[in-house]
Amino acid sequence: MTDTQEVDVLILGAGVSGLYQLYRVRELGLSVRVLEAAGDVGGTWFWNRYPGARFDSESYTYGYSFSKELLDEWNWSEHFAPQPETLKYLQHVTDKFDLRKDISFNSTVTSAIFDESSNGWDVRVEDGTTWRGRVIITAIGILSAPVYPEIEGRDSFEGFACHTARWPHEPVDLAGQRVAVIGTGATGVQVIQELGKIAGELTVFQRSPNYCVPLGNGPIDGETQARIHATYDEILATCRETHTGFIHRADPRTIWEVSDEEREAFFERLYKEPGFGLWVGNFKDVYLDRAANDILSDFVRRKIRERVNNSAVAEKLVPTNHGFGTRRVPLESGYYEVYNQDNVRLVDLRETPITRITPSGIETSDCSHEFDAIVYATGFDAITGAFDRIDIRGVGGRSLKEKWAAGTRTYLGLTVAGFPNLLTIVGPQNASIFCNIPRCSEQNVEWITDLLRHMFDAGHQRFEAEESAEDEWTALVGQIASMTLFTQTDSWFTGVNRNVTGNHHRNDLIFMGGAPNYRARCDEVAAAGYRGFAFS
Ligand code: NAP
Repeated sequence: MTDTQEVDVLILGAGVSGLYQLYRVRELGLSVRVLEAAGDVGGTWFWNRYPGARFDSESYTYGYSFSKELLDEWNWSEHFAPQPETLKYLQHVTDKFDLRKDISFNSTVTSAIFDESSNGWDVRVEDGTTWRGRVIITAIGILSAPVYPEIEGRDSFEGFACHTARWPHEPVDLAGQRVAVIGTGATGVQVIQELGKIAGELTVFQRSPNYCVPLGNGPIDGETQARIHATYDEILATCRETHTGFIHRADPRTIWEVSDEEREAFFERLYKEPGFGLWVGNFKDVYLDRAANDILSDFVRRKIRERVNNSAVAEKLVPTNHGFGTRRVPLESGYYEVYNQDNVRLVDLRETPITRITPSGIETSDCSHEFDAIVYATGFDAITGAFDRIDIRGVGGRSLKEKWAAGTRTYLGLTVAGFPNLLTIVGPQNASIFCNIPRCSEQNVEWITDLLRHMFDAGHQRFEAEESAEDEWTALVGQIASMTLFTQTDSWFTGVNRNVTGNHHRNDLIFMGGAPNYRARCDEVAAAGYRGFAFS
């Protein structure tokens, strides 16, 4: 045990959001400490170092926008940068702004308990260290609690086994090996593409196929680099205007306003366009109107069938239980062609489920497969999982996990009634989750910074969301979500995440009204003297 150290603000997490929040809190002249579980900065980009990990956001829309000097001096090498480059970027930012001195690494927070007598939070770290902060800001990520599948015998496997989000720092040589990958989400797709190039035999265990579309990556040449730098203002302005913080603008037409030929040509263009164009730059009704979505889904299904030589394999890769875009769309570079290679096999777990893992491989209902390595691309306990792994207790000792067990409730996706002086960057019911994260998390950070200025300047010790404000926000989040097709699909967007064992029910976890609308609502609340907040 050590003596408790006291600061004005404790930030949990030194990823993209936590680093920027640290920079801003320091500007307020407040004392601040960041507690980070990892051994260095980077969050997502520290942990996810599996082969093939890279952005699905255009690199030049992902960096911080707050410093012109930083924008000017950093050159991204590819349109969609690989993980090592992003980590290097975040390390560069950390060093440039001398952020490291306020961060405690290897500090996994186990509990945060609100003390009503002093209006502060008592925070405990795994190693026994204790901290006290007037305010806690969580920047713990929405995809930071990795989940291994609960399969009998999992620990008995004697070869290399690893979750993609816990990939070792030292090189892992899987060249020529017999490798299994379980999971075909955005991560599985990236890792399968890479391992397909080097594995002796690659076996993919797929439970649900996804609609994957081309990433369109490539190096950024000198001329393009110069153009990016010269037009950063416009690029960032576009990102501020779009629903999702990407540079792809949704088309203002409905699908029914164009001829069949025009529609097909439009889809073709978006399919070939780099990035998320087909997903978020499409007709405005494709996630509101089932019939419109069916047409788009059929287009992508045709593309999959065209690219996979074996028609039986192609059918296994074609999603049929949900519409295009209602789950996170994985972007790919030759993913479907991997299944045309002789060294690659696809096992459809809907036909032959895994029965157990053995010391030498994986048994399915029909046979046993021998492996040297098993890669778990099995995802995360998304959005609320990282909160659930910390014992967070507010007024009256009430646990946040228990409060949210019946359904997540927040005000603005940034605060929770009954949990004073707690702020959640990219928290549940925030617009940032369905967004190019840095673009939206910057907004969260800046709004929070203003709130802190307001609080500390006025000499308040405590702020808290009012129950009625939380009720209204939660209802609004649900109302908007229910207008979309997203709520009709099981995925981590809707809380029905089959990665995680337990009684998962549909949950309104994301503000789907779009980033500009969200920003306007946050600004209105601030302009009205922080309507819905009680200060004391
Ligand atoms: P995910 O989308 O949740 O995918 C997990 C995969 O594992 C799914 O295919 C799932 O099947 C499968 N799975 C889970 N448990 C299983 C079990 N017991 N048996 C068999 N299969 C099982 O996770 P992810 O791929 O790590 O991606 C999560 C999110 O991270 C993405 O949606 C994206 O937002 C983000 N991401 C971003 C990037 C990028 O920007 N480039 C890259 C990677 C990830 P079911 O679908 O049947 O549940």
